[in-house]
Amino acid sequence: MEAIRITGLRARAVNVPLEYPVKTAVGVVATSPLVLIDLFTNANVTGHAYVFTYTPLALKPTQHMVEALEAVAKGMPLSPHDIDRAMSARFRLIGNTGLVRMATAGIDMAVWDAKAKAHQVPLVELLGGKARPLPAYDSHSMDDVELGTKRAQNAVDAGFKAVKTKIGYATLEHDLKVVRAIKQVTGESVQLMVDYNQGLSVPEARRRGRALDAEGVAWIEEPTLQHDYVGHAAIREALKTPVQMGENWFGPEDMQKAIESHACDLCMPDLMKIGGVTGWMKASALAEQHSLPMSSHIFQEFSAHLLAVTPSAHWLERMDLAGPVLEPVLQFKDGEAHFGEEPGAGIRWREDQVSRFLV
Ligand SMILES: [Mg+2]
Repeated sequence: MEAIRITGLRARAVNVPLEYPVKTAVGVVATSPLVLIDLFTNANVTGHAYVFTYTPLALKPTQHMVEALEAVAKGMPLSPHDIDRAMSARFRLIGNTGLVRMATAGIDMAVWDAKAKAHQVPLVELLGGKARPLPAYDSHSMDDVELGTKRAQNAVDAGFKAVKTKIGYATLEHDLKVVRAIKQVTGESVQLMVDYNQGLSVPEARRRGRALDAEGVAWIEEPTLQHDYVGHAAIREALKTPVQMGENWFGPEDMQKAIESHACDLCMPDLMKIGGVTGWMKASALAEQHSLPMSSHIFQEFSAHLLAVTPSAHWLERMDLAGPVLEPVLQFKDGEAHFGEEPGAGIRWREDQVSRFLV
């Protein structure tokens, strides 16, 4: 069979509204800046993927980076590993990290999506697995007591068995007040995770973490600076509660360093920063070898397919950053994500909404 080849790509920048702004200890994400990628082929399939740029300031530069990659991808067969190698070689000198990695990961995801569609199977099946309902937690913000308890109640009512809230208020007492208020709502049968978004110094993280040890939270996420693996290891050493991190690892190479530093008990690579589907597969092998339960970070549509073939799969994060521009293919019911009904990764643009939010 003649190989299907990439004939071109399109990158569109959108800035879409969020139901709730993502408030963290270190800043607010008020809207969701996304680059939507369409990867065209000489067969009757188009690959779709999006990348999330965190700040609108990075939106246009990321869009332009994706567009520039057409020069590398055009003419190549739908062979993600070969494209991954070509991208790594092309960016060895500048470094396949930052915006470069975000763009190459977006291309990688779109290539896998197109390949699954060409084979007329859901991505999970192309990867050798089968779609199954996945445990999902509802991921919230630094919402304080009133909104925090309201969102927790909504999550419980919707059947979620786990909820995450962001903390890192001015005082430990404030953190505890919010955690206890949410726990009152969720009860003991629903797990509560907390996320500091890198907001604490190492000694302060140890102090607050020890207090949280008594509250029965399921994990403490990124208590200190994400690149400080030694600091994370020191915090982990002092605490009973599992330490979670990974959303800021750029590529499996960062994950490897974190593992060597014994930085975490649990891991949660971000599909984009880890290097797309190809990067995730490498990370999932590392997680399996080191017995690290592996959860996802945003990118819930693609991540569902990947967690289903991840040996140490833990939780899918439900945080909907692209909802307004996507057909609702991924469904949540009784705390589980349901997916895999159609070929590809389940990304379908709502074109009327895309044109509305185009930047
Ligand atoms: Mg986080």
